[in-house]
Amino acid sequence: MKLVKENIENINKYEPNKKPYRIKLDANEGKNIFFSDIGDELKLNLYPDGDSSLLRDEIGKYLNVDPNNIVAGNGSSEMIELVMKAFIDKGDIILSFIPTFSMYHIFSQIYSAKFIGINSNENFVQDVDVLIEEAKNIKPKIIFICNPNNPTGYLMNKYEIKKLLNSTDSLVVVDEAYIEFAQGSMVECISQYENLIVLRTLSKAFGLAAIRVGYMISNKHIIDIINKVKSPYNLNSISQYVGVKALREKEKMFQYVEEVKKERKYLYNKLKKLPIEVYPSNGNFIFFKSEVSKLDEKLNEKGILIRSFSKDLENHYRVTVGNRWENEEFIKSLKEILENENS
Ligand code: PMP
Repeated sequence: MKLVKENIENINKYEPNKKPYRIKLDANEGKNIFFSDIGDELKLNLYPDGDSSLLRDEIGKYLNVDPNNIVAGNGSSEMIELVMKAFIDKGDIILSFIPTFSMYHIFSQIYSAKFIGINSNENFVQDVDVLIEEAKNIKPKIIFICNPNNPTGYLMNKYEIKKLLNSTDSLVVVDEAYIEFAQGSMVECISQYENLIVLRTLSKAFGLAAIRVGYMISNKHIIDIINKVKSPYNLNSISQYVGVKALREKEKMFQYVEEVKKERKYLYNKLKKLPIEVYPSNGNFIFFKSEVSKLDEKLNEKGILIRSFSKDLENHYRVTVGNRWENEEFIKSLKEILENENS
């Protein structure tokens, strides 16, 4: 299957001027009149490095990957959109398990693709053989695997994902936004497959959702195509700067991940004792089901915000794993609501 769109194959990538200079008068930039204190280090008056070179170097070190196999941008959200931009023609099929991260469907609609969702099994287990069969029948352009899956927390193992990759020439996008809270990243496999893209983010385990740094890892051929459709200065200098700093101190992230895993276990065990259905999670959140109507609104009245779902997932909820105090408060309020319902 030919993956890249013809109009994109013929694009010459926009190349900003990267020559050394004594006086820079090439890009109609202004002078730094605000923030003189931080202006010098961050060069706020100049356009950012369009290649996010330093950031990609740090990501490369973090993942043991050549920076040439990485594209960075505004959250993994931008990465999802870039994949669509590069590969999706009107009417193409996008396949994924459901429930999953809603943006795959939303971007499919924006790019006039047909989104097909394969139901997960009971307990939200995802059967790779069903996916493989469906992909053989409908030949999707892209298959999205959210791993661990948002909102259910289900984790597919590497063997299953490799089985999928070996069975299809569709593009397989593995969204690993939450992988630091689990194990089994596909990053080390990117050079083994022509059709594998891995997406990652600093929004979750690095706790930096505000700076909007996400990135993609893939083989050079796919990276070159993505760079053709990426806008030239897609990631601002402040985000690049903060991202580099954080990656240079990644031990803090590993420590934080351990805390979250501990709290996840604590919260899961507490929830298991309540009259609700709880699903094991590999992310920094827990998915559960409760027959109590409008549970989210009742919790909200007590000042606690959780995610609720509609349609097929009515009565299902996702709660982020908080710190011990937040988790205790959540459990306490949930218990009160459940007890009130039964009295
Ligand atoms: N993928 C998944 C599975 C997510 O849950 C999210 C955010 N909720 C994203 C991607 C997007 O994250 P960001 O754009 O902040 O990197």
